[in-house]
Amino acid sequence: MAITGDQRLLKRINRMALVRLVRGRPGLSRAELAADTGLTKSTVSLLVQELIDEGWLREEEVLVTGAIGRRPTPLRLDDRRLALIGAELGVGILAVVATNLAGEVIAKANQTVASELSANDTLSLLCQMLEDVVREVREADRVVLGVGVGTPGSVQESSGILAVAPNLGWRDIPVRDWILKSLHAAALGDIPVFVQNDADVAALGEVEFCSIGVGDPLLFLSLGVGVGAGVVVGGRLLLGRRGFAGEVGHIQLQSDGPTCSCGRRGCAEAFFGLQVMLNALQSAKLELLDVSRSEEFVQSLLRTAGQRLGVLMHNLWTTLDPGLIVLGGPSCKLGPSFIDAARETFQRLANEAGLEVPSVVQARYGELMIPVGAAALVLHKYLQPI
Ligand SMILES: [Zn+2]
Repeated sequence: MAITGDQRLLKRINRMALVRLVRGRPGLSRAELAADTGLTKSTVSLLVQELIDEGWLREEEVLVTGAIGRRPTPLRLDDRRLALIGAELGVGILAVVATNLAGEVIAKANQTVASELSANDTLSLLCQMLEDVVREVREADRVVLGVGVGTPGSVQESSGILAVAPNLGWRDIPVRDWILKSLHAAALGDIPVFVQNDADVAALGEVEFCSIGVGDPLLFLSLGVGVGAGVVVGGRLLLGRRGFAGEVGHIQLQSDGPTCSCGRRGCAEAFFGLQVMLNALQSAKLELLDVSRSEEFVQSLLRTAGQRLGVLMHNLWTTLDPGLIVLGGPSCKLGPSFIDAARETFQRLANEAGLEVPSVVQARYGELMIPVGAAALVLHKYLQPI
């Protein structure tokens, strides 16, 4: 009997349900998987064998304790045979990593690029880096599952087109097709390519590479030249109708505030976008030649910016009721004045309402949050077949 499209999809869903269960509870046996999913034991055995053959799962050795009878074999994710490739196509930076299924980085490369470089030239450089990392990973006998790309701006997920990226100055760039063609031309075969907003992939990096459940919804705040948010609800990204969800840098905090790069006034990004803060620090240092006064001025400037961030965190918290807030991006390195002021303001606003704030943590992957998150996007696409 021919297998219909629906049956194939059903099989993919069942296979990935098993992978997700084993990721969440390493050591599960086939019998436990059958009990948890409601699938028959023979179906689970068949699917698990396929997943072992393909490099998704592996059997753990059973400790022999002398007791009689066959013990169920514990299963784990196999971190030795498959690879996920993730790339950051950022403002002035290109970075590529390869990770295993557990999110451990097994290869990486990065380079800075001149911000005036054209989209075509930038993509050519990125493709060269991707080709090198794909080859390196394959030479180590790993199978590449796909390439993910995280980039600032709004991305049309279905087409992989970067629609608008104000901080790169780009519009309508077919990132996915460009990379697909380039990998194909380099004789690397048809590797699936997925493109998504950088804060969104960073959020996925926190979720997909974590064996224990993280807070739900998860709110990831990416703090750099641009300020953006990735929101994962029930294991899925909140993207909005056109992929614009999460452009929280353009939430208005003050209607007569400074002009923002988007044309509006008083946006969050106009107060604590990294470039805005660096410009303000630069001019402060130029004006204040007295070093001690200058330091005081810098700390006060960072504190004020941090207080604005705290207000944004509060507004997003009241909107989304997140189970966890993650802060990441280069602005986090500006020192405690900035982040501590944000946390204090957030806590104060919650106290005034008599409410308990959710946990606020720093991004797990630090500087690699976008490329590792882009690798997580590949895993996410496999694990969520619909
Ligand atoms: Zn704006």
